[in-house]
Amino acid sequence: MQNEQFIWETHGVHTGTGNDPIKHGIDDIEAIVEKAISLKHPGITFIIHTPRLTKFRYRSEENTNVKFIRGSEAYQNYEQKIADLRAKYGAKINIRYGIELEWLGNKLGLQWNRSKVLQVPDADFVIGSVHFSNEGIPYDGSKEEANELLKIRGTLENYWAAYFEELIEMVSYSAKMIHVVGHLDLPKLNVEFPESFSDLDNEDNIVCDRLRVLLEIISENNLALDLNLAGLKKGCGIFPNLQILKRAKRLKIPIAIGTDTHKADEYGKYFVESIEFAKKAGYFQYVSFARGIPQIRSFNHEIDDDEKYNALNLSIEILNRRFSICDSGRIPRFSFGGKYSSFTAQYDGATNLGTLSAIRIRREKKSIMIGSELPKTAQENKISNDFSILSKHYDEPGVLSILFNTLASECINVKTAFLNSAGKDGIAEAFLTISGDEKSIQNAIEFTKGTGKNRFISIEYGKNLVAPAAKKSKYYLLEMDGVKLPVPISKQMILAVIKNKPGVLLILLSALASRKINIIDLQLGERSNRGLVALSVEGDFTVIDDLLRKLGEQYYEISHFELAGL
Ligand SMILES: [Zn+2]
Ligand SMILES: [Zn+2]
Repeated sequence: MQNEQFIWETHGVHTGTGNDPIKHGIDDIEAIVEKAISLKHPGITFIIHTPRLTKFRYRSEENTNVKFIRGSEAYQNYEQKIADLRAKYGAKINIRYGIELEWLGNKLGLQWNRSKVLQVPDADFVIGSVHFSNEGIPYDGSKEEANELLKIRGTLENYWAAYFEELIEMVSYSAKMIHVVGHLDLPKLNVEFPESFSDLDNEDNIVCDRLRVLLEIISENNLALDLNLAGLKKGCGIFPNLQILKRAKRLKIPIAIGTDTHKADEYGKYFVESIEFAKKAGYFQYVSFARGIPQIRSFNHEIDDDEKYNALNLSIEILNRRFSICDSGRIPRFSFGGKYSSFTAQYDGATNLGTLSAIRIRREKKSIMIGSELPKTAQENKISNDFSILSKHYDEPGVLSILFNTLASECINVKTAFLNSAGKDGIAEAFLTISGDEKSIQNAIEFTKGTGKNRFISIEYGKNLVAPAAKKSKYYLLEMDGVKLPVPISKQMILAVIKNKPGVLLILLSALASRKINIIDLQLGERSNRGLVALSVEGDFTVIDDLLRKLGEQYYEISHFELAGL
């Protein structure tokens, strides 16, 4: 069980500006990693501000008279710096990093921001924040700057309403670029809330109106909210305040927690306060991000069960890898069964799957089901009613491809396929259900036996063959898009949706065989004109990724990923 005082932060430790003339954040990030290790923290999270257009400057920066964009050099070296840290400390602590994207308006600022996101392609997350008003005056600068803006806007109501309007604009333009919305009520650092803002749920005024719209837009875009502790040390309280957070909870907005640390001695403070505060608003869990994929973490150590949360996060990781990068940072919907059933009550709209210990997770038209056990039907050897082939062969790259090649050459379609990789004896089993005329099947098998004679031990075919049971694994992928595909989950997998025609799967198998990529497990399922394929593979990730790009238009979807959570 992890340290109770620990939170997997998102808005974590701000890295410094390095050689740039105005200092911000922490330059000696190694010292802080060492501190985290000495505190036995399992992870640490860094964040850096994206550089700004020169128009958006703090008074303190203007006063230096230096024409520069703060943190530009530090920003460009950021990923390398983190890579160095991971190389040095990665065995001792899990190092995450993200960026805080400065909203700079929807014109040049928006293009600028797109380029800033692309400069840090491997970041674990992006937080979108408004620090600067459209007028170019900061909300979190000096009191004088805030008062200047207040004068321009006339009233506190206008001040806040315009700020929330800027956030609404940021979310509408940037939702695909960001995962989290930063410190939602930041201006309270320098100005009061207007008196009219005391009952968010019932009052009729422009501030409440804009804030309600903002929260709904955050919810609709499935973004998370930054529960930011920096306000505690600055005396204005946690961002956002409790009534905003309560409303966020009702809108099912997940929270990401962060200390927003800018000084080394502040590291790790207020973790306990953040949990108490979140619980007051009704939250019992929070999210953090790894390679753009949200992970759910529980506050409650009594009901917390690490294994169950691992399974939950694994399911999120697999399903979200089937979406494009800018679409993978969201939490989908769930159903739970067996030992995961206790989660059902915790997720709005979650339903029960019965006794099978499995998690079904879905979003749009895609879904997967994973579990820690196979359904009874897949647990034991069973007699198949379909026309089938059972092959026993040496587990070497390309052997399976020979079998599929000869079947395709005789116009035989493989309807379902199941591969058990080799045990200690080095012998793998493949069980295929097929359709085609019997003479052609016989020809194909004779041919396979001929060309691959040193590699095939036996090939049986016919009806009523005994299909082998799947091998034991910690987790199985049980279904994809509702089609049964029981296959052990392993580190590197390929999921594909393909045209259900003879030879289409062969393209993939031949491509992998050409680079001697071994297939550890394979399952093929079908639904009318679509074939669903799940593969576990071993080999160089980039080489495989390159092959997969060339498969052609009969591959409707091809997702290839390495699972961080395994
Ligand atoms: Zn900062
Ligand atoms: Zn910020």
